[in-house]
Amino acid sequence: MAQVRSLCVYCGSSARGRDSHHQAARQLGRLMAEARVRLVYGGGRIGLMGLIADAVLQGGGEVVGIIPRFLDQVEVGHSGVSRLIVTENMHERKEKMAELSDAFVILPGGLGTLDETFEILTWKQLQLHDKPVLVVDVDGYWQPLVDLVDRMIEENYAKPEHRALFRIVAGVDEVLPALAEMPEFRTEIEAKWM
Ligand code: AMP
Repeated sequence: MAQVRSLCVYCGSSARGRDSHHQAARQLGRLMAEARVRLVYGGGRIGLMGLIADAVLQGGGEVVGIIPRFLDQVEVGHSGVSRLIVTENMHERKEKMAELSDAFVILPGGLGTLDETFEILTWKQLQLHDKPVLVVDVDGYWQPLVDLVDRMIEENYAKPEHRALFRIVAGVDEVLPALAEMPEFRTEIEAKWM
């Protein structure tokens, strides 16, 4: 059985989405704090990002935020996180987020969330890592993404086995149980960043 200690959550920096998305971010944060699972995320205090970070902190959990210097002002780096790592650029940010995490969860979000999702999936496709990726389909938000991947497979731009690079769950309650069922994967955390 896999044991997730550090979970990376990719999600929107907007707070203008549906209430159900806000609730999902808060609920996942509460569940992670209860399970003593560390949150690794983009380090902002706005949007779903801020909601999940606050929920983990309120539950007494640990939050590692990773933000590039230039976004620290724009996204207003969350000053209350357990640890804020400021990187030189976006590439370094995404690399560190991936390095410090045992698994990845995608909540609703925009273009940045999509970029992060596809990057972590393409790295997995290229066998650069073998960590679980869970897409949380809150209110069917990610159905167009699933349809797009199916279309790529139908049209031979992706292979049928690529559909297994990620798993879809219907809600945040399923995240930790789904991860617990997944096979063993690498769990060491880069000491230099912690
Ligand atoms: P969004 O889903 O667009 O609200 O963005 C969510 C997160 O992705 C935020 O932390 C953004 O800093 C980050 N982000 C935004 N644009 C990009 C991009 N082009 N590449 C990578 N990450 C991004």
